[in-house]
Amino acid sequence: MTTTTLPLVRSRDELAIRTHCPYCAFQCGIRMADTAGESVPQIQGDPHFPVNNGQLCIKGWTSFALLNHPRRLLHPLVRDSRADEFREASWDEALDRIADAMSRTKTAHGADANGVFGSGALTNEKAYLLGKFARLALGTANIDYNGRWCMSSAAGGGNRAFGIDRGLPFPIEDIARSEVVVLVGSNCADTLPPIMQWFEKQKANGGRLAVVDPRRTETARRADLHLGVTPGSDLALANGLLYLAIEDGFLNREYIADRTNGFEAVRATVLNYHPAAVERITGVGEPQMRQLLRWMGAAKSCLILSGRGPEQHSKGVDTVHAWINLALALGLPGKPNSGWATLTGQGNGQGGREHGQKADQLPGYRSIENPEHREAIANVWGVPAESLPRKGKSACELLDSLGPTGGIRTLFVMGSNIAVASPDKTRVLNRLKSTEFLAVCDAFANETTALADVVLPVFQWAEESGTMTNFEGRVLHRRPTVRPPRGVRGDLEILRELAERLDHGHQFQFESAEDVFAEFRRATAGSTADYSGISYAKIDAQDGVFWPCPYDDHPGTPRLFAERFHHADGRAKFFAVEHRPGGEHPDDAYPYFFTTGRYKEHYNSGAQTRLVSKLVHERPRPMLQLHPTVAERHAIFTDSLVTLESRRGRAEFHAEITPDIRPDTLFAAFHWGGSDSANTLTNMALDPISRMPEYKLAAVRIASVRPTE
Ligand code: SF4
Repeated sequence: MTTTTLPLVRSRDELAIRTHCPYCAFQCGIRMADTAGESVPQIQGDPHFPVNNGQLCIKGWTSFALLNHPRRLLHPLVRDSRADEFREASWDEALDRIADAMSRTKTAHGADANGVFGSGALTNEKAYLLGKFARLALGTANIDYNGRWCMSSAAGGGNRAFGIDRGLPFPIEDIARSEVVVLVGSNCADTLPPIMQWFEKQKANGGRLAVVDPRRTETARRADLHLGVTPGSDLALANGLLYLAIEDGFLNREYIADRTNGFEAVRATVLNYHPAAVERITGVGEPQMRQLLRWMGAAKSCLILSGRGPEQHSKGVDTVHAWINLALALGLPGKPNSGWATLTGQGNGQGGREHGQKADQLPGYRSIENPEHREAIANVWGVPAESLPRKGKSACELLDSLGPTGGIRTLFVMGSNIAVASPDKTRVLNRLKSTEFLAVCDAFANETTALADVVLPVFQWAEESGTMTNFEGRVLHRRPTVRPPRGVRGDLEILRELAERLDHGHQFQFESAEDVFAEFRRATAGSTADYSGISYAKIDAQDGVFWPCPYDDHPGTPRLFAERFHHADGRAKFFAVEHRPGGEHPDDAYPYFFTTGRYKEHYNSGAQTRLVSKLVHERPRPMLQLHPTVAERHAIFTDSLVTLESRRGRAEFHAEITPDIRPDTLFAAFHWGGSDSANTLTNMALDPISRMPEYKLAAVRIASVRPTE
């Protein structure tokens, strides 16, 4: 596999290499100076890329700092027992150890005793090849990934309602043209700062923005209306708004009759959601509900944009349905500058959820339990369909099965810092420690590599080629811009080397990411997420290609649903859903809601951003946001050290006292892994459909308060 030849792709002005940010799903275009791979280039926002138009957030501006970082892993690390320190090893020794462990596990305990854990940060090529590696080289059903914790509820709801899951079924520019935008549980001013340019244009065009969030976030401050909803009650709010839409005559009856199924059951359900009842559940006053509904109902165009707030719950899919029901009842999806959409989080959160690193999925958004889908992929892979494993365990269930009693004895992790990102972190840490063998591929040491038997040092984003699919469904080319340091290898090469050691090398003979992409295109042909008409050359020529793109001359599909939805009858589906409590609710013992989120300076588990000095300087630790009434009740002052307890563990935070949060709710960001780790408190209550854990709602108590040291 080639590691040294850098295919330099010139920008329009011939001054820089054009590529994309390593972090979130906005995948901002960046330009890096051409240094012929000899040193680390500076970064600029790409003014020609039509999504960010030159803007970057602080993470993007500082991302170059990772490329020559002194803490970069440069050698494979092994240890002879968990009691030993790591020592540097050759690639052959490290790969042999992993392959031997996988083979031993399979022989002694069966193929499903090997587990694989992927990431929404992996390129499409890597996500595809990791799924193929699990199913063919290991023969295991047990592969899942951290995107299960991010997008699975939105994906589940979108698939069931529309027959397809593409985060935005329209290009980003539609936001600027929409008369009313309702942001539900997204603080995108902090999580996707360059997106705010589209809301500013919307405002300049006379549009209105409403934000639903338990906190008055930076995004909520910029809104025309903020609904400070009780955590876990977004579903009830959506049902209440639909009640008002019926009462006030805002239903689009023609659209409901012509383009949808199942409305009558929804109507019967929401008639129980009288505004007074909804106010008791949500804490949102009837006048605010009526105002929002009137804006939405009277607007010529209206978008409902969902974030993780309503989705990361044990009823996440049902909550997504409630908001899609409202959108369908108003006749929005498919109408210009209107509809329901979800703002994807991770860098390849869209492509990563389409191509087979989910336990129930094969490439092209195919189902692993569907005989035709199995046959299609088996033909591409040159194996009998019956040899493919069946559906495996979802992310939390997979991690909860680690160790001798759970049955998954060996775990191979690619690009995920599980030890920080998992809900109910202490439980997962104990499971990770009980694995017989843990191998982790990463560019930097982190809390998960610290538990491993073998660590493989890998390329970073700017050192290799690949494709990413952004939050709009636009497939992008991530181009190599710097030469990787000696001693590290690419994930694709690692999978090939391991497959060869497991006697499956003939199925992994790829020389480049573009080679993998060629097979991957064929594997998606005829599927829901059809990439078969996309090539690297087409992406370069068009600044990205929207899937589906089913043949070479096809231009891609920026907008979905204008004429039909993706169910066989072309119609969208309503689902009647009821509010229900979360996995736990505040009570006398644990009286506060605890909810989690992000800072603009950090990304996910912080494995990369906690290494960037500028970001650490700006945001060195998580703060516990709490209301002044809570501060008074517990004698908490600014910066006091507050210990929170949930039924699963305790964490200590410095206090930030603010009226911008509900008095019944406490908030902390989840990017840290030490004693201030928010995921020590979070709850592994799972959604029955998406298997999403309940990151956004735990019951906690304030166990102690002490002054800052
Ligand atoms: Fe853009 Fe996201 Fe990167 Fe920030 S982190 S520069 S919003 S892609």
